[in-house]
Amino acid sequence: MLIKKQDELKELLILKALDARWQLDEKTRNRLFRLESGLEGEADFLAALEKSEWNALFFADLKLKIHFSSVQIDAMAISRKTIHLFEVKNFTGEYYYSNGHLFMKNEVEVKNPLHQVQNIEIAVRQQLKSWGFDYQIIPWVVFVNPEFVLTQSIRTDPIIFPNQIEKKLKELGVHSFVSREDRELAQRFMALHDSKLSFIEIPPYSKAALKKGLTCRSCNQIGMTVKDKTCFCPWCGMRESMYCTLLEASRDFSLLHPGQKLTVAAVSDFCGKKVSKQAIRTALMKEYQLVKNGRASYYV
Ligand SMILES: [Zn+2]
Repeated sequence: MLIKKQDELKELLILKALDARWQLDEKTRNRLFRLESGLEGEADFLAALEKSEWNALFFADLKLKIHFSSVQIDAMAISRKTIHLFEVKNFTGEYYYSNGHLFMKNEVEVKNPLHQVQNIEIAVRQQLKSWGFDYQIIPWVVFVNPEFVLTQSIRTDPIIFPNQIEKKLKELGVHSFVSREDRELAQRFMALHDSKLSFIEIPPYSKAALKKGLTCRSCNQIGMTVKDKTCFCPWCGMRESMYCTLLEASRDFSLLHPGQKLTVAAVSDFCGKKVSKQAIRTALMKEYQLVKNGRASYYV
């Protein structure tokens, strides 16, 4: 049973909106790619958990503050007085272990997910102790991408490879049940969850120099054209209702101009004056509330 789904990742939304309208440096582009692929991997694993017959309470993307440090758990399951912690990785390509360190094939070292999940385990154990719950904790690292290859791993390492996910969840599901105490603990975790603990790193950009126009939801390129009430992407051929495109643009405007009021004139300028103000007004009315103040009216 799914108790908590993934949060919308604000950093990812901002970076995507920025990517279409600003030249991101390579480091930030890599970060955007990692965020997107990490989120996809977690979503895939969550789908597998939900599809399984494991009778457990599932959580995705839990953010907790434990003893003054922030702990982020990709996925967690509570069942039969046991907590399973999952560090989910969407790596592709060849990797190898050497003396407890993880390397890509080109010998570049990456953070060892086994260490990451062990640190989470320590924090969760402390939290359980302070709540007075005596639970077993089992940490796992799950590699979800079928194009991932790991050589020289130790057989006893708690790693689940892409082709083992279904089988492993089946094993965990045998004789599984959720007790009243499990539900009580789940409530404690939900009360501790704080979505604001996300780490957000946005590069500096000039608001005035952002490219103006309509962004395609499919390929994230700017320059959609409008005909009647439909937007067309000249880059990937995607077509979408003008109102959907306008609402996305309004959200992107707010993300990239924090603190600035959402007005018809501001969205019109942000969209490169590609659509009529009346169309923008109609779109904003669908999703937002109008705060009337004469010519200075805005939407919230
Ligand atoms: Zn497109």
